[in-house]
Amino acid sequence: MGAEIISGIQMRKEILAELEQDVAAMKAEYGQVPGLVTILVGENPASVSYVTLKVQTALSLGFHEVQDNQPADISEQGLLALIEKYNNDPAIHGILVQLPLPKHINEEAVINAISPDKDVDGFHPVNLGKMVIGGDNVRYLPCTPAGIQEMIVRSGTETEGAEVVVVGRSNIVGKPIAVMMGQKGRGANSTVTMVHTRTKDLDAHCRRADILIVAAGVPGLVKPEWIKPGATVIDVGVNRVGVSEETGKAILCGDVDFDQAREIAGKITPVPGGVGPMTIAMLMKNTVKSARWHREQEGLTRTGK
Ligand code: NAP
Repeated sequence: MGAEIISGIQMRKEILAELEQDVAAMKAEYGQVPGLVTILVGENPASVSYVTLKVQTALSLGFHEVQDNQPADISEQGLLALIEKYNNDPAIHGILVQLPLPKHINEEAVINAISPDKDVDGFHPVNLGKMVIGGDNVRYLPCTPAGIQEMIVRSGTETEGAEVVVVGRSNIVGKPIAVMMGQKGRGANSTVTMVHTRTKDLDAHCRRADILIVAAGVPGLVKPEWIKPGATVIDVGVNRVGVSEETGKAILCGDVDFDQAREIAGKITPVPGGVGPMTIAMLMKNTVKSARWHREQEGLTRTGK
């Protein structure tokens, strides 16, 4: 029997429906909706399509959405000044700067310039630090790892005491999801191993994973025989392996051989239609969270607490 397919498209739909209710409740309660600014520098086609999807999703939820497109030759100073403007704008609760940025702009400086209170991407060192400390300290989880964890939980996979193996150690996926799965708490409490290009016996580590999270960006890296029967497999990889003659669109695949792996795994995410759609849902969730938090702060200031 084949594995259960964990559909990111279906889960995104559920999460967005929950958020839509949250937004409607906020509007009814205090006449304000979450505000998100999406800053796009230049016209990189992949970035344009990611930003378009984020804008459409924000609008569909009833957010106040500002799409701020800037020319590719905007100076670093100019971009930092723009971020500062949105840091001080009370109608904006989330600031998203689409990466990658043109080479003349220092991405780290840009990430650090976003107020940690509005860092709905969860990339600011303050928010990453809070994520590592865990518990009530956590503010905004980075969106792709948050989406991965949500998929694991919503698919009914037991995480407590589970052996989790994460393939990849990037700052945006591998490292944060490894930390998150090892934290105390719901959807975590796992025993985590993080592997990378210098790992010896990569396959041996993968074979003992109850939950295998693969974020390497290498098509077909994980062989079907590396998968423990019944394991939950989360394939984060998005690899362009050609162009469809029919549609002219890119042909995408993950890091796991899906057709063979689904015969062995218990649950598995497809590519496309797996982790990708969840990333945007988590961005929206962070923005709603930020709007609520800002509102609470205003309330505390008013009552002098
Ligand atoms: P990255 O920064 O390139 O990191 C890749 C990691 O995988 C590195 O830690 C690397 O090890 C490791 N790795 C590469 N080849 C390996 C091998 N043969 N054996 C073991 N480890 C190997 O990539 P990333 O930004 O994390 O992204 C990973 C993949 O996820 C990409 O395909 C990307 O497109 C996709 N992605 C998807 C989403 C989404 O929303 N669906 C979001 C982000 C990324 P070293 O550190 O030793 O080099």
